[in-house]
Amino acid sequence: MEGFKWEYAPAPEAKDHAKLKTQYDLFINGKFVKPNSKKYFDTHSPSTLEKLAEVAEANAKDVDSAVTAAKLAYDKVWKKMPAKERSKYIFRIARVMQERARELAVIESMDGGKPIRESRDFDVPTAANHFFYYAGWADKLDYAFPNKKPKSLGVAAQIIPWNFPLLMAAWKIAPALATGNTVVLKPAESTPLTALKLAEIIQDCDLPPGVVNIINGFGNTGAAMVAHPHVNKIAFTGSTDVGKIIQKAIAGTNKKITLELGGKAANIVFDDAPIDQAVEGIVNGIFFNQGHVCCAGSRLFVQENVAEVVIRKLKERMETLIVGDPLDKNTDIGAINSKEQLDKINSYLEIGRAEGLELFQTSGSIPSKGYYCKPTLFIGAAQSNRVVQEEIFGPVLTIQTFRTIEEVIEKANNIPYGLSAGVWTDKGSKIFNLTSKLRAGVIWANTYNKFDPTSPFGGYKESGFGREGGLHGLAPYLTF
Ligand code: ADP
Repeated sequence: MEGFKWEYAPAPEAKDHAKLKTQYDLFINGKFVKPNSKKYFDTHSPSTLEKLAEVAEANAKDVDSAVTAAKLAYDKVWKKMPAKERSKYIFRIARVMQERARELAVIESMDGGKPIRESRDFDVPTAANHFFYYAGWADKLDYAFPNKKPKSLGVAAQIIPWNFPLLMAAWKIAPALATGNTVVLKPAESTPLTALKLAEIIQDCDLPPGVVNIINGFGNTGAAMVAHPHVNKIAFTGSTDVGKIIQKAIAGTNKKITLELGGKAANIVFDDAPIDQAVEGIVNGIFFNQGHVCCAGSRLFVQENVAEVVIRKLKERMETLIVGDPLDKNTDIGAINSKEQLDKINSYLEIGRAEGLELFQTSGSIPSKGYYCKPTLFIGAAQSNRVVQEEIFGPVLTIQTFRTIEEVIEKANNIPYGLSAGVWTDKGSKIFNLTSKLRAGVIWANTYNKFDPTSPFGGYKESGFGREGGLHGLAPYLTF
């Protein structure tokens, strides 16, 4: 099996149906409007490096227009609307997203670099499912929180990263609308396009103007949103560093906040685990999606007596992974989202080498054009290595071994983050023992990276606080 590599003819997804304008404006008060800043920035494909569109950059004045529109829509329309009417709008957004799923998936892969299989089969359907799910809650909040009289907050400023652009937008907008809040959302600067497509969908759905506003820009646009006095709630997903900046910026105000930040998940394989399934789960946990997942299983812990066989099987499986064109249906690992991110990953490869770790990379080729990284293992890693302690956000897996359950709990928890973890074992008792002792918001057992709108998600420690998804995801948008 060693060295064996699948060779497939190219199977590119058609992109002629994905309609992109050359220039996008700000979506404020139900219309696309020119930015006060008069500035536009380019968004590129990380695989072909071609310019896809230019996008308006919001300055503080533009942020003010968006927040003012959201506040007026809240006071005059959305707050007063019967919940079951709100629900119909949210449901309608979900239906139109489904109708335009193919176009959304293709644009997601073009702009962000993720394989079309992921965007088509996971990102877009899960995004639509969030709207469906929260449409159902809108008129049932009194049942979700009995005897508590939940009330909406007002304007939610939502700032999202580039790893799941459309899904993060849905994840944030759907519960905000269901709970009766209005929204100003800012996508990440490298992946603005699917959120702009969502703005078009929202317009087609006749959502009252100002209920959802979508603006683009860089860090200072996000900072202006956070600082705006009429913002009542901030929902942020991104790096721990920016999460800390935002927390400092709102200190002393009564803005409510949820932060979903970095991660460095332990994926723990015991000797009684079904090894082949575990290997599949390890690959799914870190390599699919280029490791661009905050909850990626980036630290593998293998029980010492099965380490040799797990590492051998893992290497064999990795050799079959296809790194390449995100729009090709055979591709397992697409492009790294930006040059900055690829540079960051490469700098960690150097750090790991300098720390004296054994590095394994697959033998297959990667495209010469675009930002790509081969799936990589650091074998024989130790708890003190920087590649173990710090978030890399790429297809790089560190491997540590352990002997006892106490040891692995100690090592898994000895990290600044606590977003997620995985456990592979045949024994239910071991699963329950670990889930109660691992300091992680989400723990998968004998599977990895499974998501569902009904299930809450969020972190411990430097991975942030507050829960998104499920019934728990309603609470941060309500006051009681
Ligand atoms: P990542 O490392 O995942 O790109 P960042 O935290 O840098 O995460 O970015 C996540 C989002 O936060 C992006 O939309 C970015 O533009 C925004 N952002 C960056 N700096 C700030 C800031 N100081 N205040 C508010 N938002 C910011």
